[in-house]
This record gives sequence, structure tokens and C-alpha cells, in this order.
Amino acid sequence: MAIYADIIIDISTEKLDRTFQYRVPESLRDRVCPGSLVSVPFGKGNRVITGYVVSLTGEPEFDPDKTKDIIDIKEDNKDRPVGTLLQLAAWMKHHYGGTLIQSLKVVLPKKTPVKPVEKQTVRLVASEETVKACMDEFERKHQVARLRLLKALTETGAMDRTFIGQKLNVGSPVINALRDRGLAEIERTTTYRNPVVTGIYGKKISELSMDQKHVVDAVLSRYDAGDMKPSLIHGVTGSGKTEVYIDIIDGIVGRGHQAIMLIPEIALTYQTVARFTARFGDRVSFIHSRLSAGERYDQFLRAERGELDVMIGPRSALFTPFPSLGVIVMDEEHESSYKSEQMPKYHTRETAEEMAKISGAAFIMGSATPSVEAYRRTVTGIYELYEMPERITGGELPVVYTVDLRKELAEGNKSIFSDKLKELMEDRLSHGEQTMLFLNRRGYTSFVTCRKCGFVYKCPHCDVSLSLHRDKKLHCHYCGYETPMQPLCPECGSRYIGGMRAGTEQVESEVRRVLPGARTLRMDADTTRKKGDYERILSAFADEEADILIGTQMIVKGHDFPRVTLMGILAADMSLHTGDYRAAERTFELLTQAAGRAGRAAASGGERRLMGEVVIQTYSPDNYAVITAAHQDYKGFYEEEIAYRSMGDYPPEGHMLQILIEDKDESRALSSAESMAEYARGFMQDGPTGIIVSGVPHDAHIQVIGPTDASVAKINDVYRKVIYIKSKSYELLAVLKDGIERDRAERKAQESHVEFDFNP
Ligand code: ADP
Ligand code: ZN
Ligand code: ZN
Repeated sequence: MAIYADIIIDISTEKLDRTFQYRVPESLRDRVCPGSLVSVPFGKGNRVITGYVVSLTGEPEFDPDKTKDIIDIKEDNKDRPVGTLLQLAAWMKHHYGGTLIQSLKVVLPKKTPVKPVEKQTVRLVASEETVKACMDEFERKHQVARLRLLKALTETGAMDRTFIGQKLNVGSPVINALRDRGLAEIERTTTYRNPVVTGIYGKKISELSMDQKHVVDAVLSRYDAGDMKPSLIHGVTGSGKTEVYIDIIDGIVGRGHQAIMLIPEIALTYQTVARFTARFGDRVSFIHSRLSAGERYDQFLRAERGELDVMIGPRSALFTPFPSLGVIVMDEEHESSYKSEQMPKYHTRETAEEMAKISGAAFIMGSATPSVEAYRRTVTGIYELYEMPERITGGELPVVYTVDLRKELAEGNKSIFSDKLKELMEDRLSHGEQTMLFLNRRGYTSFVTCRKCGFVYKCPHCDVSLSLHRDKKLHCHYCGYETPMQPLCPECGSRYIGGMRAGTEQVESEVRRVLPGARTLRMDADTTRKKGDYERILSAFADEEADILIGTQMIVKGHDFPRVTLMGILAADMSLHTGDYRAAERTFELLTQAAGRAGRAAASGGERRLMGEVVIQTYSPDNYAVITAAHQDYKGFYEEEIAYRSMGDYPPEGHMLQILIEDKDESRALSSAESMAEYARGFMQDGPTGIIVSGVPHDAHIQVIGPTDASVAKINDVYRKVIYIKSKSYELLAVLKDGIERDRAERKAQESHVEFDFNP
């Protein structure tokens, strides 16, 4: 039987965005594999050019008599990781849509020359005694920023200066002050290499807890047995997951393989860096958004050459070309930053799972609030579940009060703050402790609720909240259903019905009115426009320059302020009614995270114990996301949520493909959208002709919704239409998407810009 190779020609030009098929001559059979670099005759004149083999098949796509032969192999690449990455790119193109070039650009980093950069390292040089004396002095004088930096330096030895600024929220005056006191030195080095930090050595944990040891042993013995089933570690914050990751990675590195450690960018703190460098020294590298393309490429090169064992970073670290990848770990698996916003709109969890499969590596995920998708896979047996329900330090979870805002209104309190929250804020103020006020508003959507009875308008077809548009009508983002807004609540007839639009600015002025003595800081999109704003606000709050920090989601992620003992969530409803199927999940996650921010440290000054208290204010105290979050009850939440998803055929129970069509010409946007919807509707009747559909169940079908205006119908004079297509079978949606792309190409109807988004 003849073998054919699908080859992608000249990666740098977008015009040739498809594979070309060539026959593999007998003499090259043993050497050609996906990833091989080969020379082939191309075009009419049979010019000899090079290309990468993407896949091999026994089925010729065209007339075998007209198929040309591969001329020669330039590099078989049998042992290089590039084959894995090409395979992954092909999978991504099929799974998420877009061109192969788009996927290749994500997967294969561009070779860019690296400019030398100057690095500054701050190194601790004083003796232990001097350090101790200075710490006492800083403590006494309440010089918190100095104290914070000095503490970090004693833990780490030395740290990168930029990193100190960004992650420790400490500025130059403080660094210089330590230098002038003879505590620290600033070293300047010019380097091509970019280990984020040099010479950081964190403490080693002496012994793992029983829970930790159980997980590490189980994962490693499954690895040794060749059981490559992915693992999900569900462990509360502080249960010691990071230590588990480190030990698993250490074990697999010890077996001669390498590791990729994925973390959300915001979680790359100096503590994380210190813990990994303590174990892996200069065999670990970090990539993050501040690296230039060249620096990033350089890190990848080090990995490929075998100079590294561990690569840590956000989602792009997944594409590190290690020679023998042994494990991929993904921390905070539920984080939305793992989903790419650009074509291909890939999800890191799915892509990492595929990458692990292709490379024969283990795949470990961890989270305190796993995504419904991932947890579902533990229930169906696709992932192995490990539970770590207790904090290592035995720290208590905060006390949570849920306040019914409907009752507050009935009792005549029309303010943003419930009586309970106001009372606790006053208490904190009088004890010199800090409060965070969290407004979990998302995006530009505005839902309508009744402040008397809690009624919310919902789409009768999609069971998601409707949002109020400028035309004064309520719209469904999925199906375009609309209904006029009534002046009175349809449920209870009250006139307290309207859009919920409180902003952080309003909250701040209300705080000033209610607590005139309180010093406030505000963190939202407005106050963090300029570079450095974000760090400045966090550092001011850490330095106790304010009593109350008011902010959006930015304040709940990843930051620990030891003197915060109260967290007020002003309106849980804000994220609960965002009009998409993930609203409840996001609310549960945000409330759980926010609750975890309060009272994380034991008392330092010997005053009363710093107990965490949380107030959740809501018009929907009976909503399951609110109730389960208040009890930190993940399983309870999951049970309710999966039932809802199942009823609406929402992911992971069903799958959903969103097609976004953009065009400056509105009628063309609409006609493009309509012809795509038409193609999709005809797809099932005619059957997916000419395509081999494997992995699609016989009874799978699709449901086409739309086209309708996108939730943001126009941006910069570009009109935006959406189509939603639902199916039980992901593969069927992927094949349909391929069909739509082919159909557009055949009709040469590619004027409108089109983006696909699976399970948005
Ligand atoms: P998570 O990643 O689940 O939030 P961490 O791994 O960060 O938890 O652990 C929380 C804290 O407990 C850290 O300060 C860590 O140094 C400490 N810790 C973790 N494991 C142990 C252990 N076995 N013994 C003592 N302290 C530990
Ligand atoms: Zn009402
Ligand atoms: Zn609808």
C-alpha cells in the first residue's frame, strides 16, 4: 500500500494555508514521520522547496497518478519535539477552527534575535543579626514596605528588581533605602539569557502531610505503571497543592523527563519562584508577559537543548519544545485566562490534554474550584480525582453572613450597605483592621431585577438572564429573543424594578458618606489605566495607607493582605445574571475566592485574633451558587449546576459553537451570517458528505440558533452578528465548522471576518 504525506509548505506565507499531499517513496518510508523536514517539487515548474510533514495517511486525497513524490529528507526529526508540536497545531486547527498558519504561529514560536538586556538583581548582604535588628526597627516604625522587602529577601537571598516592583509592590525608594542601610546590594548584569530571577532560594518543606503524600505517591505509581489518565486535584486554597506539584515534577524529572508547569500570570509571585528555584535551581525557567518574543524564544531554545527540566508560565508555556516531556501540571485549572481570546480560541486544558497524549506525558490539574467541565470528567472516569479538603496550617475558614437585600429594602434601608456590613466595617475601622469591598460586575451587560422580590427577566428559550439595551428592550444574547421592559415588576407589581448599575465610584462616595473617617482606595478599569497603577494601589493598601479597598475582580485574585479581616461582596447578583450559561459557575468561583481573601493570616501584633468575616449581599439568597459558596460547598454547587447544564444542553453536557461574523457593511455581515446558518441547517439533511466522520454518534444532531446581533452589536463601526450551534457531539460541530470554511472558500465569500469559538 502506498503511503501519502500531508505537507505544509513554507510556514511563513499565509497564502499557502493548506496541506499538499505527496507520495512517500519506498526508500524513505522508514524515516518520514510527522515533523520531518522534506524537499518536494512544487507548482507547475516543480521548483524544489521544503516543507514539514504534518501527517501520514494510506488514503490518497487526489488521483494517485497525479500525486508527486517527496524528493528527499532534510531532517527526519524523529527525535525532535517539533513533530509533536506540528501534530498539536493540526489538532488545534480542527478543534478550534481558523487557519493552520494561525495554529502554527501559536505552537511554534518565531525565531527572533535577542537583544542584550540589563538586569538588576537585589541581593541580601547583611548578617543575620543586622537583619533581625532592622526588622524590629521597621516593625516599630511601621515601615511596612521595607519590612516586606527585607522579609522576602531573607527568604530568597536575591531577587530580580523588576520582579520586586511588580510582584512585591515595592518601589525604588524602598530598595534604595535598604541599599543605603548596607542591607542589600544592587548588581547590574548584561545578559542574553533571562532567568527571571537569579539566586533565589526558598525554604524547603521538610515533610509532606499525609494527604499530600497520598496524592504524590498515587500519581507517580500510576505514571510508572503507564497509566496516563489525567488527574484533577481538588484542594482548598492552602491545602498544599503547590508542594504536591513540585514533588510530582521532581519525581518525573528524576526519571529523566521534563515538566511544564502552567499557572495564571497573576499567580507568578516571588513565593512561587522561590519555591521552584529552591528545588530545581537553574534547571527551571519562567516565561511571562514581560518577556520579549526573543527572550521567550531563547527560553524555548534552552529547553530544546536539554538545559532545562522545568518551564513555568501562563498558557504559552505549554508549547515549550522539551525533548522528552514527562508531565504537564496546570494550576488554577478553572481560570478564564486559560482560554485564548484570539484565533485559534483554544482552551489550555483541552490542548494540554491533547499535548500530553501526543507526548506520552502525565497531565495533572489542580484547583480549589474546578471548572464544571473538568469535574464532570472525574465523574465519568476520564480523569482521576484527588481531594485535599484541609488547609495545611489548619487555618479556619472565614465566617460568612448572607444578607437578603430585599429585606433591607423592606426595612427601609436603601443604601448600598446592609446594616450588618456597615456595623462590621465600623468595627474594623475602630480596630485598625482592613476591609475589602468587592463589586463583581462583569463586562457591559446590564440585567434587570426587582429590588423588592428579586425577580429577574429570563429568556424563555435559553434560561439565561436578559439584558437591557439602549432601545429599552430586554434581549437574549443567545437567541435574540426580545421583550419590552415593563414599568412594574411582573411578579410582585412593585416599581423597584430596574437595571443594576452600581459602579465602584458610587461605592466609594457612599463609604465616604457613611464612614467619614475612613481612608479609601479604589481599583477598577478607570484607576488602573496607566502602567504601574495596579502595583501602586496594591502596594499602598499593603502598606496600610488605606482602611478600605474597593474594587472589581482585580482585587480578589491572588493577593494576600494579612490585615484584611472583612470582605464585603456588595451584590452577588452582578455576576449571577450576566446572560450566559457560565454565570452561576463564575459567581460561585468569585464568591469562594473573595471569601478566601479575608483573615488569611494569624494575628501578628498580639491583639485580638484576626478572624475573617465575609458579608455576601444579594437579592437572590436562595440561589444555589450563593448558598453553596457561603458554605464553601463545591460538590453541592456542582450537583445543581450540572443539572442545569444538562437541561439546557449546555457544556459539558452538550457543546456549543459560536460563530462571530464581523463586517463594516451591515447587510453583508447579515447575509454572510445567514448563508452560514443556512449551510449549517442543510448540513444534517444532506449529511456531512465527502468527509469521513469518525467519533460522531449516530444519533447526534445539531441545533442552529440565529443569526442575531452580538451582545456588543457594533465596535468601531464594525457590525457584529452571531450564530450559535449546539450539539451533543463536539466532533460533529468541528466537522460542520470545516464544512462552513470550505463552503465559504468555494463560494469565494470570504469578505466578512469570521471567528469560531467552541464552548465560549
Ligand atoms: P495551595 O497551593 O494548595 O494553595 P501551598 O502549597 O501554597 O497550598 O501551601 C500553603 C502553605 O503551606 C505554604 O506556605 C506552604 O509553604 C505550606 N506548606 C505546604 N506543605 C507543607 C508541609 N507539608 N508542611 C509544612 N508547610 C507546608
Ligand atoms: Zn418584584
Ligand atoms: Zn434565548
